[in-house]
Amino acid sequence: MHSETIKLTAKFKLKEIPEGLDDLFSAYREIVNFLITYAYKSNITSFKRLKKETYKELREKYPQLPSHYIYTACQMATSIYKSYRKRKRKEKANGEPVFKKEVIMLDDHLFKLDLEKVIIKLSTLKGRTSFEFYPAKYHEKFRDWKVGQAWLIKTPKGVFINVVFSKEVEIGEPFAFIGVDLNENNVTLALPNGEFVQIITHEREIRTGYFVKRKKIQKKLKAGKRRRELLEKYGRRERNRLNDLYHKLTNKIVELAEKYGGIALEDLSEIRDSIRYSAEMNGRLHRWSFRKLQSIIEYKAKLKGVRVVFVNPAHTSSLCPMCGGKLSSNGHRALKCENCGFEAGRDVIGSWNIRLRALKMWGVTVPPKSPPMKTGGGKPTRYEINTLHTING
Ligand SMILES: [Zn+2]
Repeated sequence: MHSETIKLTAKFKLKEIPEGLDDLFSAYREIVNFLITYAYKSNITSFKRLKKETYKELREKYPQLPSHYIYTACQMATSIYKSYRKRKRKEKANGEPVFKKEVIMLDDHLFKLDLEKVIIKLSTLKGRTSFEFYPAKYHEKFRDWKVGQAWLIKTPKGVFINVVFSKEVEIGEPFAFIGVDLNENNVTLALPNGEFVQIITHEREIRTGYFVKRKKIQKKLKAGKRRRELLEKYGRRERNRLNDLYHKLTNKIVELAEKYGGIALEDLSEIRDSIRYSAEMNGRLHRWSFRKLQSIIEYKAKLKGVRVVFVNPAHTSSLCPMCGGKLSSNGHRALKCENCGFEAGRDVIGSWNIRLRALKMWGVTVPPKSPPMKTGGGKPTRYEINTLHTING
C-alpha cells in the first residue's frame, strides 16, 4: 500500500462578468511583465528572491490590489522566466520574455469555491465579491476533494475559473496485471486468467464522420463568421463524443482490472521514434487520443486503488509472446510466428506482450509456453461501447 495524489482540473464558467475585471487583468499583466523584466535583467529564478526585491515597490504602486495577486504574479513570472531560459538555451527564444495572456493565477486567499451554493468568492479591486457559476454534472465528484490553486481566464466565450483539485488515494499492491492495447477502433485487454476482451470503439468512424462533415461545410460556405462557428460547433461535438467514449471505455477497463489490482499500458514517451509509429502506424490510435485516453485510465484506476504501470512499447506487435520469435503477417491483422508457428490476431498479441512485460517489470517469472488459450485460438470476447449519437443532430 502506498498513497498517491491525484490532480484534476475543473472549469467553472461565471454567470456574470465581474465589475472592473478589465482593470484587474491589465494591472496583473503589468505586474507580471514588470516582474519578468526584473527577473530577466538580474537573472533571478528564485520566487522568494524575486518577491523580496519587488514586493514593497509593487504594493505601493497598486494599493487597491489584494496583496496575494502580487504573490501569484511572482510565481507566474518565475515560471515564465525559467521556461524562457530553457528555450533560450535550446536557441528557441527570441528577444525578451513577455506575458500577453488574459490569465490570472489565484491562490486560496484570492478565491473560495462553494460547490453546494454554486458560488465562487473572488477578491477583486472592489473587494471580495460572490459570483454564481454555471453548474456542471461533473463538478459534483469534487465535493470531497481538496481545492488547490486556480486560474482566472478571460476568453471570447466568457470568464472562467479553472480550479485544480487534489485527492489522496491508497494504491494497493497488484497481484496481476491486465495488458491494455489501445487501437484506433478497439481496445484489447489481456486478462491474467488467459482470456482476451476486445472493446469495439468505432473511433475511426467517429473521426471520419466529423472529418467529412467539416469538409462539406468548408466546400459549401465561404470563409467567415458563419463557417467558423459551424466548424467550431462540430469540433466541440467531436471532442464531447470522444470524451464520452473514453470515459465509458475507461470505466469498463478499470472494472475488469479491479480484482487484479494492476493495469499495464504502453509508455507513450518511448513511442516517439519507435517503429510502431511509422511502419506499424496502421490501425494505431491517434497520438492525441492515446495520451488523453491513457491519462483518463490512469486517474480512474488510481481512484479505485488500481496500480498502473507503463511498459516499453517496442515490438509489442512484432515479437511472439510464446517464444520471442519474429512474427510475420498472415492475412488481415493476423500474425504468425516464423519460429514456433504460433498464430493470433495483432491486437491479441499486442495486449498479451504488454501484460508479459508488466509481469517481467514486476519481477514475476512467467512459465515458458503457457498459452492463455481459454478462448480458442485467442479469439477475444467482444463488447461494444455506445456513445452519444450527435453527428447529424
Ligand atoms: Zn513463437
